[in-house]
Amino acid sequence: SKNTTRKPDWLRVKLPIGKTYANVRKIVDDNKLHTICQSGNCPNMGECWGAGTATFMILGNICTRSCTFCAVATGRPTEYDTDEPRRVAEAIKLMGVKHAVITSVNRDELKDRGAEIWYQTVVEVKKASPATTIETLIPDVKGNWEALYRMISAGQEVVSHNMETVERLYRRVRPQARYERSLEQIQRIKEYGKRTKSGIMLGVGETADEVYKAMDDLVAHGLDILTLGQYLQPTKMHLEVAEFIHPDMFARYKEEGLKRGLKYVESGPMVRSSYHAEKHVMV
Ligand code: SF4
Ligand code: SF4
Repeated sequence: SKNTTRKPDWLRVKLPIGKTYANVRKIVDDNKLHTICQSGNCPNMGECWGAGTATFMILGNICTRSCTFCAVATGRPTEYDTDEPRRVAEAIKLMGVKHAVITSVNRDELKDRGAEIWYQTVVEVKKASPATTIETLIPDVKGNWEALYRMISAGQEVVSHNMETVERLYRRVRPQARYERSLEQIQRIKEYGKRTKSGIMLGVGETADEVYKAMDDLVAHGLDILTLGQYLQPTKMHLEVAEFIHPDMFARYKEEGLKRGLKYVESGPMVRSSYHAEKHVMV
């Protein structure tokens, strides 16, 4: 049987220490920003923040969705902060990163799904740091394509939308999302002319064949870049880990993904969708 009570050695994380880490923390706090690194209990904070990078989460830190793997709080959002785009731009400028990753919660209650704040954020970052490339990890717009095009029209280089899991597990993992709709969103992003990226968490009960099927579907819908990482349970209240996938299997998935036509696959136990994002911005 599969032992999921104890983490295997390949999931041990680096401790968050050092001057650069403290500086990132100060920039985030001074600008009153949220990061998915903190809100998502990401195990890579020591490494990423220690290297001077973080992923900002805009549109507040309360989400209208209740994905069962996610540590972000679910509820009715209260924030609509039109000054946030400027502060995100300021923080990214201070951090001096070559590549910035921005994400957001889902704002299903807003008519434009947060598209205007998204648009302004990318515009402000580009204004403050013209040489910085931007990746926007956007939520499911629930078929509001007008909102989608506004979100992705501000000059960002990469647009990600995470599938998170295989088709069969959607109801359990992403109850308010639909597999086909997320594929269509990715296809529309590609047709709009953007480099496309998506992520799948492994170890929630999927089979290898289901992962290959998802890869084929993603290639058929124009996906360029795929990230594959191990799901870790943020608290006992969240979806249980079904399996710790061995690093060799991550390597096999990477090979399979490339064989199936993806341009780049970042695959490993500690991979998150924003992990090492600077490496594949230009593929
Ligand atoms: Fe933040 Fe992404 Fe790094 Fe995790 S992998 S610490 S979410 S930048
Ligand atoms: Fe978390 Fe995103 Fe799902 Fe909201 S939509 S619960 S932030 S994964």
